[in-house]
Amino acid sequence: MEEGGPSIFSLIINGEIPCHKIYEDEHVFSFLDVNPFSPGHTLVVPKEAAVTLDALSEESAQAVGRVLPRISRAVLDVSGASEFNVLQNNGPNAFQSVPHVHFHIIPKFEDGRGLAWPFKSSPLDHEDGARTASEIRDLLV
Ligand code: AMP
Repeated sequence: MEEGGPSIFSLIINGEIPCHKIYEDEHVFSFLDVNPFSPGHTLVVPKEAAVTLDALSEESAQAVGRVLPRISRAVLDVSGASEFNVLQNNGPNAFQSVPHVHFHIIPKFEDGRGLAWPFKSSPLDHEDGARTASEIRDLLV
């Protein structure tokens, strides 16, 4: 049982609330976003009820990764877009509103429909970068 009860995506996966279904296999479920940024905006969701990507099992991650390109191609064909963004939010401050891992496939059209890019960046400090990369590498061995 999920802490705090099943997420809205678990209810969709279990058929307890309706959706415009696109795809299903043993580990993955996919359907149209009910509040799309652009036509064809699709969600790809692991059936495993992990809240954020870092908590997802490798088995589910592999299953999602395997179908993302195929679902993206179908979304592009049907929407008529040739460009798209894949968006994946983790945590409320990172704009996650549904606490169940999901990937957005968002077609981007030349007229601007789709995801906007309001993010700011600044050049990497290479001394910090070397230290940070080394610390992350150490956790991956
Ligand atoms: P995020 O902000 O990354 O957590 O995105 C959650 C997405 O789920 C939003 O784009 C919502 O429009 C979408 N969503 C919420 N409830 C439903 C639902 N019942 N059916 C389809 N999409 C939904």
